[in-house]
Amino acid sequence: ASLAAAADPVPHTRRTQDRESGRAPEAPAGFANAPDTDPAIAANRRWMRGILARVPTSDLGVRGVAEHTVSDSEALDALLEAGEGAGRAWGGRPAAERAALLRGAADALEAARARLIEVMAAEAGKTPAEADPEVSEAVDFARYYADRCDELDATPGARFHPVPLTVVAPPWNFPVAIPAGGALAALAAGSAVILKPAPQTPRCGEVLAAAVRDAGIPRDVLQVVHVDEDTLGPLLVTDPRVRRVILTGAYETAALLRKLRPDLPLLAETSGKNAIVVTPSADMDLAVRDVVHSAFSHAGQKCSAASIVILVGAAARSRRFRAQLVDAVQSLRVGPPEGPETQVGPLITPAGGKLLDALTTLDAGETWLVRPRRLDEEGRLWSPGVKEGVLPGSTAHRVEFFGPVLAVMTTPTLDAAVRIQNGVDYGLTAGLHSLDRGEIAQWLGSAQAGNLYVNRGITGAIVRRQPFGGWKSSTVGPGCKTGGPNYLQALGDWERAPGAG
Ligand code: GLU
Repeated sequence: ASLAAAADPVPHTRRTQDRESGRAPEAPAGFANAPDTDPAIAANRRWMRGILARVPTSDLGVRGVAEHTVSDSEALDALLEAGEGAGRAWGGRPAAERAALLRGAADALEAARARLIEVMAAEAGKTPAEADPEVSEAVDFARYYADRCDELDATPGARFHPVPLTVVAPPWNFPVAIPAGGALAALAAGSAVILKPAPQTPRCGEVLAAAVRDAGIPRDVLQVVHVDEDTLGPLLVTDPRVRRVILTGAYETAALLRKLRPDLPLLAETSGKNAIVVTPSADMDLAVRDVVHSAFSHAGQKCSAASIVILVGAAARSRRFRAQLVDAVQSLRVGPPEGPETQVGPLITPAGGKLLDALTTLDAGETWLVRPRRLDEEGRLWSPGVKEGVLPGSTAHRVEFFGPVLAVMTTPTLDAAVRIQNGVDYGLTAGLHSLDRGEIAQWLGSAQAGNLYVNRGITGAIVRRQPFGGWKSSTVGPGCKTGGPNYLQALGDWERAPGAG
């Protein structure tokens, strides 16, 4: 399905717009991805500086968080009851009405762009370059799922029945785009939503929900709740009134939920351990740029991030790729998210456990190509590291660290590179840099990941163009992709038309 979507003519590339005056080129007919804020426009740089100036003292929505913190099971029960009732009414409304409200939500999210960027920087340490496209993605989800809602409604044959209540449990690393994706899909599919933001990013959830409600979506149809993940969290997701759970997080969390409630209809996007293969035919400048961005943007704290680069044949032997990589990595500016020059922001918590080990130790055969350095007292700011000599089967090959450290591996052939790339439990994103059609065809036929990228970075999937989903241990559930054509269909129940086979 994603291939079919990609083959459709896409009407435009992301347009740019002047945020101060709101002037933008006219949108083309049909679905169009929302434009990111183009920093080449001076007015946009002023607009962004204004937002960043507020970050260090940001107190957005603190009251909101207190309002939605639930600490006993009776309060949780009332919330579930309200959600289920509201969901029945919401699912009974004509699809066209829900779609119209979602289109309104897209506009409201666009209007909240500055507030969303501010709260993402304040809570998740996101730089503008990372936070701004996240708002675009949220806006895209609203418009795209509104279209799918209309389409689903018009589909003849089997009948789609909304389920009343869905829980959406996003991670802190994409605290706006991921909850928006889950919540807006469920709303489009006719379900009420209880959104449980990640504990590190509660206000991101609040500001997001407030924007969606601004568009007229009733409060009980989209509720936000902060619960303790060890006590009330399990109660929330195992409650039989909850008919779908959309989770993005660690594989272990998804596995635990499955154990707590085996019949739970779970759509989970889980961990990744992702590699980019670079062959001798690659455009090396492009490859270095894409590897560095995929590995170190948001300090490597993305499920989609590249944590391995596999150099093939002459690319492995040549000094050029390594020299350029070292240069590019050492030139990255690390700092707080509000710093206007910052390219790599802070870790969400001080480096510890397996990430601290990865940043400070080497296994057999490994050497530092670029040695990471701790830049603050706390241990949240690290200059990125690159280790080479990483061997198949080692920790750096197989374990997800979720931080700014990249492993360089080498192989004689593309075949062997794909075996290394596939030789992990996960299958989320994978990249190839090659200008050889034969190599590209071979790789596309053998790489095992939900999202394959050729001659592009492997983070930053775009709604409709690159529907996003995992394979192997990177997904639990039906495995359909967010931002793709068949996501809503997995969120309801189906009834066969009488007489259908
Ligand atoms: N959709 C994001 C991307 O394409 C990744 C989401 C995640 O890290 O969970 O980069």
